[in-house]
Amino acid sequence: MKIFNEIGPLRTYLKEITTNGRTVGLVPTMGALHEGHISLVEASKKANDITISTIYVNPTQFNNPSDLQKYPRTLEQDAALLEKVSCDVLFCPTDAEMYPDKTLIKFDFGHLDKVMEGEFRPGHFSGVALVVSKLFHICEPTRAYFGQKDWQQLTIIKRLVNELKFNIDIVCIPIMREADGLAMSSRNRRLNPELRSQAPIINQSLRLASELLRKGEEVATVKKAVKEAIESQTELKLEYVEVADPVNLTPMNRVDKSAEAIIFVAAFAGEVRLIDNMYLE
Ligand code: AMP
Repeated sequence: MKIFNEIGPLRTYLKEITTNGRTVGLVPTMGALHEGHISLVEASKKANDITISTIYVNPTQFNNPSDLQKYPRTLEQDAALLEKVSCDVLFCPTDAEMYPDKTLIKFDFGHLDKVMEGEFRPGHFSGVALVVSKLFHICEPTRAYFGQKDWQQLTIIKRLVNELKFNIDIVCIPIMREADGLAMSSRNRRLNPELRSQAPIINQSLRLASELLRKGEEVATVKKAVKEAIESQTELKLEYVEVADPVNLTPMNRVDKSAEAIIFVAAFAGEVRLIDNMYLE
């Protein structure tokens, strides 16, 4: 695996190896890699000639300085994991390389970045769109891989690609979970054993919500049930639960029997913020 910290040498290398229409798959990450990330890399390996993973803890998408400071950084282990699955290229730039000047550009995605994560993490999606745009310009991939776990992010990136005419296919990969249902996340390693044992309640509450909605229960009642399930059985604190249209993310007050919807949850386990979602089955 070739490792690059700088944009110039990476571009030169990609120019050399992407001749004869060879396809490139891009897997952007913030590192502290787990099986969820690796499933994106494997999907890219299957569909493309060259796979590039990026590891960059992007400061502009953190609205909470302590979250940025405490974000796990495990570059050596990450590189070893990527090597094991035969990733071709790892790009792990410095802040100076990605943001040589204080950025002036801001993105506004209208309604898409005002709800859920956007409401509770102001500026987050502007930072995501900025860094993803930079990575798209640097790597010029054929396809880019993102996880369903960050559904709102995926929706916003699809919008970015459509509006700015990036010639890139966005591929969505399902959520990888621990055996007890907890969605894999780099932040899980910050949980103490007590909170780690309680965290699967998030996924359990999503299952409960899914069952209740399919039985025709009102959205308001379902939201109450999720809060009750999480907060009465564990020390976790619910930040939000939302039921929304999968395409335009508009919150839904009622869900018809066969309607498509996604249930979203964000909760704090101590100071660790966890998110998860579930497509209504
Ligand atoms: P992150 O490093 O958290 O920014 O995540 C990098 C990419 O991996 C994003 O597209 C995430 O949606 C995806 N991802 C994170 N967790 C999982 C998971 N448990 N299963 C599948 N993909 C994931």
